[in-house]
Amino acid sequence: MTEIELMMHLHLNNKRQGPGSEEATNLALNLAGVDKQKKYKIADIGCGTGAQTLTLAKALQGEIVAVDLFDEFLKKLEERFEKEEVVASVRTLSASMDSLPFTEEEFDMIWSEGAVYNMGFENGVNYWKGFLKKGGILAVSELSWLTGKRPSELEEFWVGEYAEMAPVSEKIRILENAGYKVLGHFILSDECWLENYYNPLLASHAGFLSQYGDMEAARQIVETDRSEVAFYQKYKDYYSYGFYIAQKL
Ligand code: SAH
Repeated sequence: MTEIELMMHLHLNNKRQGPGSEEATNLALNLAGVDKQKKYKIADIGCGTGAQTLTLAKALQGEIVAVDLFDEFLKKLEERFEKEEVVASVRTLSASMDSLPFTEEEFDMIWSEGAVYNMGFENGVNYWKGFLKKGGILAVSELSWLTGKRPSELEEFWVGEYAEMAPVSEKIRILENAGYKVLGHFILSDECWLENYYNPLLASHAGFLSQYGDMEAARQIVETDRSEVAFYQKYKDYYSYGFYIAQKL
């Protein structure tokens, strides 16, 4: 089993696979200025087991295409939707975010929470723009520095984990250079990280290790998670996810 497949198994039974909340998704919808009477066509890229897909489908009419690399996540998403009352219709698509079978200007909205780092922010926002209609909305959350300077221990850790780690102002500049108008942005709260993501993740380590703990790669994943959480507790004033809401001009 590859490292990414092991990670998929670790995250499979959790409600979300990255920091976020229903409130944050709804705040991003408000900043996007959505019209709840209108029918939208939306792609939710890197949807995982569908935490934000569900919020979108409850809030908006129209059609949502929920995209992820892993069928296992998409299956969980489908099971979850069976038990929910939603307004939008939802279908799943197993595809890679950097090679999507969409047509030019197909979507009113492209949504992506905690996932664009898999292809890099700059690549992602430029590539996905082609699938948005003129005036369409991109809403994307991305790990970002909150200050101009930070402790070197922290800098080294994150630059090792994610080469495109950059300040909020830099993420906004990338969106502007790609031809978007930035309508708003905000920073994910502590609750989005701890209650909604890290605490459930730490709680799933025991079961994961009892199944895969004989594999070095699995033990390594658990170690990396633990140090990531410790870093977050120590340095959360310096970084978070920024949620960026932008309009294609
Ligand atoms: N949006 C969800 C999941 C975030 S985790 C949430 O916030 O809970 C990142 C997601 O991106 C995972 O579901 C992972 O399977 C998916 N992913 C990773 N690489 C991908 C790729 N190349 N194409 C599509 N999805 C990918």
